[in-house]
Amino acid sequence: MISDILESTLENVSFDQVIQQIKQGIMITDTIGHILYVNTTFCGVTGYEPKEIIGKTPDILKSEMHDDDFYRFIWTTLYEDGYWQGEVYNRNKAGEIYLQWLDINDMKNDQGEVTRYVFIFTDIQKHKQAQKDIAFLAYHDPLTKLPNRLYVHQHLQSLLNKEHEHQQMIALLYLDLDRFKQINDTLGHSYGDEVLIQAASRVESCLRKSDMVSRVGGDEFICILSGISSQSDAETVAQKIIKAISQPFYLDNFESHISVSIGISFYPYDGDDIETLVTYADSAMYRAKKMGSNQYQLAQVEENAGAFEKLIFENSLRNALQEETLTLHYQPLIDTKTHKVSGFEALLRWEHPDFGTVSPMDFIPLAEETGLIIPIGEWVMRTACRQNMSWQRDGSPPTRMAVNISTLQILDSNFLKTVLEILEETKMPADLLELEITETIFMEESSSALLTLRQLREKGVRISIDDFGTGYSSLYYLKSFPVDTIKIDRTLIQDINTNQKSEAIAHSVISLANNLNMKVIAEGVETIEQLSILREPKCDEIQGFLFSKPIPSSNVMHWMENNYVEEKRLI
Ligand code: C2E
Ligand code: MG
Ligand code: MG
Repeated sequence: MISDILESTLENVSFDQVIQQIKQGIMITDTIGHILYVNTTFCGVTGYEPKEIIGKTPDILKSEMHDDDFYRFIWTTLYEDGYWQGEVYNRNKAGEIYLQWLDINDMKNDQGEVTRYVFIFTDIQKHKQAQKDIAFLAYHDPLTKLPNRLYVHQHLQSLLNKEHEHQQMIALLYLDLDRFKQINDTLGHSYGDEVLIQAASRVESCLRKSDMVSRVGGDEFICILSGISSQSDAETVAQKIIKAISQPFYLDNFESHISVSIGISFYPYDGDDIETLVTYADSAMYRAKKMGSNQYQLAQVEENAGAFEKLIFENSLRNALQEETLTLHYQPLIDTKTHKVSGFEALLRWEHPDFGTVSPMDFIPLAEETGLIIPIGEWVMRTACRQNMSWQRDGSPPTRMAVNISTLQILDSNFLKTVLEILEETKMPADLLELEITETIFMEESSSALLTLRQLREKGVRISIDDFGTGYSSLYYLKSFPVDTIKIDRTLIQDINTNQKSEAIAHSVISLANNLNMKVIAEGVETIEQLSILREPKCDEIQGFLFSKPIPSSNVMHWMENNYVEEKRLI
């Protein structure tokens, strides 16, 4: 049946015609390897005419890509198994080497004796190239052709596995070009790309063959120096790279200059895994930038230990609001004329489960750095206003509530809305709220922040300048921006009775405020002597340990009831 079909299919078509049109190269040899037959595809690929090759042996196709053992193995397999298949590099008539997939089968006669070998060559060059291209793209940066982050990680991992046994030292250099953004912005991205390509090859030229440089980000590179014998080996390479990059770049008739900052970490001293080594080198690189760029810095493990603690601290501060571990203490403000409490300042405390009570001086900067100051500040204001109204409902006379406000809160576009909402929600009269701001707000040159403060003031909210005397103490903004109160900083008050200069400064701030129709509060009054010096000129209010430390809300009513006795003692 099958033979019928074959016969009818092959009608008028010779065996040779079929073989000639096959897309694979076909070569037939006798048992001792003399070539008897080749098809058209074979001739096209090898460049040989049939007459040039018939009678020769397949040795004519040999490339130097395989050794004698390889060919011996093929023939042995053929004799034993009757077939062989695998990849072979061959050479064509023009001398070019190409990769092929080769199938060799023996042909037997009716007696079972081998009479011929049939070689079938399939072109896998294109397929192989595509595979290579894909592999290259997956592991290299298309612009500089350098290994990418993935590659360097795998390379480093295999080195770490190996060096672990040999106890050798590896250096990781984290490079970041200085001022590269400027080049990109002013001369365009294609110019920037050219600079990157040239910078990459300059870095490469500073390394040994066994080292590796990879591009891991826009203008960031990582170099891995393996098997170094001392720290100074890596420092020498870093110096070489810095010098190479600082040479001018000549491109499109432009001369441009960049430099590079480098951080170096060492295995096994700074860490024994990739992440740690990269993190340390990266921080050292930032230090190099901070110190003026165009230099290298070595990793400092303590620097990152601090960063890790900071991260833990940051995470627990994030949770502090939900876990209700933030509380407010209140410190009374005393009227120097009536000796009555005229208000309170709300001061934040963090009752940390492990560290105990944390001072705001220790966590406000972190809250500012992380942006957490916005929700925390809102919580402070809402809690303080609510508390103030609750005391009044319990029979206390209306008193002001002073709340410390970070400059970042005022710069936040929702600030005005938040304050007004809190006043509305707590029903606290606006003129009982005093926002303690610092002079830094005037240095921000943000007209919208100043407008926000003006709008709040128009609603009746009071504004005071906290810590006056420690910052710029510029009199100019006091003239141009209306504030209600100046709080003289504790550092000016603490030696007022022993240092004439401090006394003179405090007195002139008080008279300046009087002349500008502002209220003055002296902070940090601890002794009767300090109080008496401040009483003489018209210092309106006093705040300090002399009267009370900041106290928890639950103790405030009790303190108020006993306050009169304290007052008497002072008069
Ligand atoms: P501040 O606003 O100048 O607050 C006054 C600080 O001086 C308070 O420190 C208070 O406990 C302390 N103090 C008051 N009287 C005396 C005294 O007689 N002697 C001494 N040695 N110290 C006195 P505290 O509570 O540690 O707050 C420190 C700073 O943290 C505050 O300085 C303020 O700048 C900031 N802060 C506190 N709470 C908040 C808040 O809710 N938000 C923001 N943004 N900052 C806050
Ligand atoms: Mg304050
Ligand atoms: Mg202060």
